[in-house]
Amino acid sequence: MAKYIFVTGGVTSSLGKGIIAASLAKLLQARGLRVTIQKFDPYINVDPGTLNPYEHGECYVTEDGAETDLDLGHYERFLNIFTTQANNVTTGRIYQTVINKERAGAFLGKTVQVVPHITDEIKHRMLLLGQDDQYDIVLTEIGGTVGDIESLPFIEAVRQLQWELPDEDVMVVHLTLIPYLKAAKELKTKPTQHSVKMLSETGVHPDILVCRTEEPLSEELKRKIALFCNVKQEAVIEAMDASTIYEVPLHMLREKLDLICLRKLKITQFGEPNLDKWKVFLDKLKYPKSKVTIGLIGKYIELQDAYKSILESFIHAGAMNEVKVQVVNVHSEFITHENVAEKLQNFDGLLVAPGFGLRGIEGKIIAVKYARENKLPFFGICLGMQMAVIEFGRNVLGLTDAHSVEMEPNTPHPVINMMEEQKKIKMMGGTMRLGAYPCDIQQNTLAHRIYGETLILERHRHRYEFNNDYLDQYQAAGMVTSGKNPETSLVEIIELPNHPFFIGVQYHPELKSTVERPAPLFVSFIDAAKKFNENKSAVKSASKDALI
Ligand code: GLN
Repeated sequence: MAKYIFVTGGVTSSLGKGIIAASLAKLLQARGLRVTIQKFDPYINVDPGTLNPYEHGECYVTEDGAETDLDLGHYERFLNIFTTQANNVTTGRIYQTVINKERAGAFLGKTVQVVPHITDEIKHRMLLLGQDDQYDIVLTEIGGTVGDIESLPFIEAVRQLQWELPDEDVMVVHLTLIPYLKAAKELKTKPTQHSVKMLSETGVHPDILVCRTEEPLSEELKRKIALFCNVKQEAVIEAMDASTIYEVPLHMLREKLDLICLRKLKITQFGEPNLDKWKVFLDKLKYPKSKVTIGLIGKYIELQDAYKSILESFIHAGAMNEVKVQVVNVHSEFITHENVAEKLQNFDGLLVAPGFGLRGIEGKIIAVKYARENKLPFFGICLGMQMAVIEFGRNVLGLTDAHSVEMEPNTPHPVINMMEEQKKIKMMGGTMRLGAYPCDIQQNTLAHRIYGETLILERHRHRYEFNNDYLDQYQAAGMVTSGKNPETSLVEIIELPNHPFFIGVQYHPELKSTVERPAPLFVSFIDAAKKFNENKSAVKSASKDALI
């Protein structure tokens, strides 16, 4: 039987609950326990797939094709595990299941109510991953903040489980904020007291308080928090701001968060935490030898979370190459033929981001052209790859007004077309080409050098594809389609051989990059950017010498 740790949040949102939960899971895993981690989100959407990135940040896609909350990305990046559809549950999905059961007559004439029917379904899902002896510990992060109306059924389900399961099989970690008031030069505990009180009113009592703070917590302050919130003093954990999220597991280790959990859960079989690989990565991350600057060409750039996995992949790939990767966001909507050189000339590489819809498209195409013509390392992901295909069609093949039918259904040259299987689909949620698909890689190509394999599995999230009617024309003009789906022949990778690094992929390599397994495409892209930067510096100093 697995044991269950629930992580709730209080006082405000954005305290980094996902990072704390992932860090705790990492420590338990590093001690040799079998751990998984899941997220319960209180919103009514069945999954975040239909949400605009401005609403909820990036939509993370799992190997099995679930569209999930971006916290699942943190879980995978920290734990180096695959999560699945079962690891992300929303209120919408719970209600959908219960209502479908009701329509099927499963409740035998009973009135269907929040308690017990909704809470039963929540509990069923909370316990599910722990049922078949795959895991010693199942960690569940509850989205939202305690006191929100919509998270009440989840909290009620936790209360019932605390009551139903043996004491040593369930525990609650509550993440809270201890604000520092500059004027009073004091840390304030009152918001935490209120938050724990509110949680207690629903019948849930936390075993551990993780306190986000900008200043260290004194023993005296910890004693005060412990006293007023009715937890043991050692269970008041200080969580100071960290310079990188990847430092948080080590902070939590120092605070003994994992040991306190193990004691409460009466787990006695565990080892010293093995974090060797993690520490090597952190060292490289903190002490880079040089720097590269990458332009991220996107349209959701006001919100960092919209490109979360891409930004984290750059961090992994930077550490691997021992360089600091500075990512500069460039709004594609404002790139024009006139200003493109000025906007992009200082970059060592260009990543054209995934996305949907017409806004900012022309700017992306102009940016691709600049990278192609100026031999600037280029990496296009999903929509970014599609833009590279359009650019090549228009400017190399002379296909005037070549476009994707997503943006221009009546284009004379639909070089990006809707996939056959997508044409009959009317519903929006969960209907794209989603999850892992195989891709055959052609030998003697850049893609083959990067992956060192001829068959890979990468994750997808799209409706449109390279139109194979144009394949011969593209190939004749020098574009190499180095990756293809073995069953459908859908083009997965394009590249240009007469360029130092020009590659576009229809899939999302950023979704599989973890601390211990950085995505090969990102690692090679950063390596190419490093070389580009070194050449640039060499040319600069040579021209200085010439002047002298
Ligand atoms: N909008 C494009 C499609 O649906 C690209 C999607 C993406 O970038 N994830 O094919």
